[in-house]
Amino acid sequence: MRTPLNVLLIGPPGAGKGTQGERLADKLGLAHIATGDLLRAEVDAGTELGRQASQIMRRGELMPDDVIIGMVLPRITEAAQQRGYLLDGFPRSVEQAEEVRRFADVAIVAPHAVIYLDVPRDELVRRILARAGVEGRVDDNEHTVRRRLEVFEEATRPLIQLYQERGILHVVDANRDPDTVTTELLRLLEAIT
Ligand code: AMP
Repeated sequence: MRTPLNVLLIGPPGAGKGTQGERLADKLGLAHIATGDLLRAEVDAGTELGRQASQIMRRGELMPDDVIIGMVLPRITEAAQQRGYLLDGFPRSVEQAEEVRRFADVAIVAPHAVIYLDVPRDELVRRILARAGVEGRVDDNEHTVRRRLEVFEEATRPLIQLYQERGILHVVDANRDPDTVTTELLRLLEAIT
């Protein structure tokens, strides 16, 4: 495995980004940076940003790019100068991917691998509604999930082609039990030189 290792985890809501992101970061010693978690921490802290995030998350829409980039950029720059990052939930659109290249030192923060967690739509909805009872997220309800899936198709899916063209995309079948997916992801990342 190369050091530093910078990894992006992309997938629709319910694909397992949070679970797999935490496990991979832990096993590989990478900084786990999850934009959704950072926003939920702002909501819990009752900050102005948290109030804005709460409204947008409730609707299943995306936060403005400048807010997200301001939050993510210092963290990925720092992590990339250490052992690397495992970024979950960013970028969410081609615009965000391009913006970060405009403002960052690309040689340092560019991802080495992008993993797309592939799960069929019916299974995503099933997982999210099951999770709703456990985690109590404001956006895990039937109405918001539908919108989050649409936003994924419109804004985030085009990123897959972008990274395919850059030759760093790995598609992983995440419609399997979480341990099997983790094993495959670790094998894949350990093979990256
Ligand atoms: P997640 O926990 O990744 O599912 O994110 C929860 C919500 O936070 C999303 O539905 C968005 O409203 C917001 N969010 C997280 N990451 C981003 C991002 N990169 N760009 C815009 N909004 C985001």
